[in-house]
Amino acid sequence: MTTSSTAGPRATTKKAAGTTNRTSARKIAEQLRVKDDESPWSEDEISEVRGVLLEEIEQHRVELKLAEDELDDLLRASGDGSGDDQADAGAKTAEREHEISVAANARASLRQAEHALEQLEAGTYGICENCGNPIGKLRLQARPRATLCMTCQEKQDRH
Ligand SMILES: [Zn+2]
Repeated sequence: MTTSSTAGPRATTKKAAGTTNRTSARKIAEQLRVKDDESPWSEDEISEVRGVLLEEIEQHRVELKLAEDELDDLLRASGDGSGDDQADAGAKTAEREHEISVAANARASLRQAEHALEQLEAGTYGICENCGNPIGKLRLQARPRATLCMTCQEKQDRH
């Protein structure tokens, strides 16, 4: 079994993604690989994908912040919840677990989007992380933070 993909441990976070060192869309377009039957990336297409990724990053940052704040509140509230009965405590635990999973999802999506943007800037965007083939423009335009080609994604989903 190949457990390579999704959020690799080497995923570099922390660095503000894409705010500095922006590579020109034309240069990126020249570097990116596409499938054999696809036309090369145009500058406009690069700009569009980049815009979507930047938007996603922003959106997931907000989501993550909200979930973390919510979680803080829940944890703080549970600290002084001495008078809770069991049902209350159960509801709070469920709520907390929900926020934890919301935060985890947001964090994973944020990393994916940041990672995709880094690859875009580096000119290595759009290569399947599993098989090394081009992911394909069509798929990337529909899902800009995809890191696997359709075939590998389907294989992974089946596991
Ligand atoms: Zn692949």
